[in-house]
Amino acid sequence: MHPQDPDVAPESEVRSYSRDWPTLFTHARGSRTTDAHGRSYLDFFAGAGTLNYGHNPAPLKKALLAYLEDDGITHSLDLFTAARTDFLRALQSCVLAPRGLDYRVQFPGPTGTNAVEAALKLARKVTGRQTVVAFTGAFHGMSLGSLAVTGNEAKRAGAGVALGQVHRLPYDGFAGGTVNGPALLDAMLTSKNSGLDRPAAVIVETVQGEGGVQVASDQWLRALARVCRRHDMLLIVDDVQMGCGRTGGFFSFEASGVVPDIVCLSKALSGYGLPLALTLFRPELDVWAPGEHNGTFRGHNLAFVTAAAALREFWQNDLLEQRTLRRAEQIADRLRELPGARVRGRGLVWGVEFDDPATAGRVSRAAFERGLLVETSGARGEVVKLLPPLTVSDAELEEGLTLLEESVAAVSPPLRVPLAA
Ligand code: PMP
Repeated sequence: MHPQDPDVAPESEVRSYSRDWPTLFTHARGSRTTDAHGRSYLDFFAGAGTLNYGHNPAPLKKALLAYLEDDGITHSLDLFTAARTDFLRALQSCVLAPRGLDYRVQFPGPTGTNAVEAALKLARKVTGRQTVVAFTGAFHGMSLGSLAVTGNEAKRAGAGVALGQVHRLPYDGFAGGTVNGPALLDAMLTSKNSGLDRPAAVIVETVQGEGGVQVASDQWLRALARVCRRHDMLLIVDDVQMGCGRTGGFFSFEASGVVPDIVCLSKALSGYGLPLALTLFRPELDVWAPGEHNGTFRGHNLAFVTAAAALREFWQNDLLEQRTLRRAEQIADRLRELPGARVRGRGLVWGVEFDDPATAGRVSRAAFERGLLVETSGARGEVVKLLPPLTVSDAELEEGLTLLEESVAAVSPPLRVPLAA
């Protein structure tokens, strides 16, 4: 492994995942990845929700290799290219048109946090207001605007400057579900005495992935959307982690019937781990001046190629969506058998929370030793998060769940058997 290798430029202490999984990964295909010792791991981490179609999916790889072989354009800022046009055509025909969604498409820069920054900036520009409502447990990225709307204390501490212009509200289920966030917001904005100035927007995840797989109910999301409409605030759904089919539908908000004003997408969009992000918004909100929000990597042609192939392969019909919804039941049934654990999830994102926050980390390590990659999430890393590729086979899913059960059993204290009198 390279951390000890004097011939390799030393990496910063900031690296994190490689501390939990200290091996050198070399190859990957489908739901499995292999390390330099030839050891195979079942990957229920999937690039933190980036590899929804598994590693190196064949139809995407074929399209990418053909494009490279043909000397297709790889970098183009925001010039028109054949790959860009083809991606936008696939997005329109496979995703937006079938859902009746009339969105303009902005390429904000390559990563999820870029999509969030563009969304926040646009919402403030359109409304002329500064504050944004964000939720407890939220995760929206590490650049300063996104970090301001993120909840995690340790991550926020890294900013080094004040993180402001945010009004924080309890997410669905926070504090034991004692406070109804949308109702509170409605009351505060209706009151002439609350001291809360009208925010520009509300930013929300339908399921908080980093926040410990906290799931907002459809009813809660609809109530939130109503409050936004009533008080003329823009609704931003950050679908960076839960979009692209993770919860079933292409967009995670589809099941609730809510139609956001602005949507952030990234992670699994290219389907190949190639950076690509989008900020989608209603056409009336498109008040950008040309070049007002720019950047060198706004639309990566190789990612366009694999993204277009992914949309045509997996989103021309609802087969993948239906399969994901069926899998949800299969996973939930097995996870609920785990002793001492609370289980939450939708589609193919599931969280297993243990009474003792340290247990999740121990389970993740025990799983690694058994050849299963699962990460932890939540403010204290108290939740084991399952993000298998959406293309995982039935056998692989069963195998992963069995490895998880074995890992939980391995770290749980043995049951005390009462001594016979
Ligand atoms: N929003 C959400 C919901 C996320 O889960 C993430 C990444 N975990 C981000 C934004 C930030 O994306 P990126 O790391 O690509 O900047």
